Amino acid sequence: MYIVEEAHNYCPERGYGNAVSSSILRTVASEGRKFGMGLCVVSQRPAKVDKNVISQCNTNIILKVTNPNDLRAIIQSVEGLTSETADEIKRLQVGVALVAGGSLTRPIMVEIRTRETSHGGRSITIISGEGEYKPVKIPEQPKIEKVEEKRPSKAEHVHRVANRLGWVSTATPDETIEILSREAKKMKEDPFKYLQSLAKLGEKYCHESNPLCIKCPMREKCRYRLMKRR
Ligand code: SF4
Repeated sequence: MYIVEEAHNYCPERGYGNAVSSSILRTVASEGRKFGMGLCVVSQRPAKVDKNVISQCNTNIILKVTNPNDLRAIIQSVEGLTSETADEIKRLQVGVALVAGGSLTRPIMVEIRTRETSHGGRSITIISGEGEYKPVKIPEQPKIEKVEEKRPSKAEHVHRVANRLGWVSTATPDETIEILSREAKKMKEDPFKYLQSLAKLGEKYCHESNPLCIKCPMREKCRYRLMKRR
């Protein structure tokens, strides 16, 4: 796998400069795979990267982008993205990426967990002030404590989802469950199944910090989502 960081410097789009590596990267992008060579281009400015290279990338991992030119470049080069997706990309939370491309039937949201290993890379000086080599002791990295995440209970999921949808405006899960159970009975529905379906929605899509609204079946009727889009 050949990784090109700051790709806009090595294969710039027409009008954004020249680089001797441009034509080589174009060839690698379009023909490299038949020789078993992978290419990964990384940039914070997709609008400045040669479209011939981006359009050859099978899988695209997109983090939050707000610049309109960059958003347009992404939508035009990546298969399966629409202007609605551009809105989602603008609002992506830190640590959440949209993965899209020809190898996926539709774009998916992924949450990237915090790295558990310590950082190995470090700039070291091996030449002392007098111009002699001297061994450099790399300080030991502090161990990263693994913090156990507290999982919300089903009642908390129901409380969060119902409030986000705008079905209730309550302060506690108990209050929410009481109101929803009453509503379910009025509608002649089984309160347990009714609450269970909301809890499932919370577990699967409506996460506390990064709700996956783009995939949520309730997205068109959700007050929280509509307010965020304004
Ligand atoms: S649209 Fe988003 S905020 Fe609303 S219920 Fe679904 S995941 Fe939650």
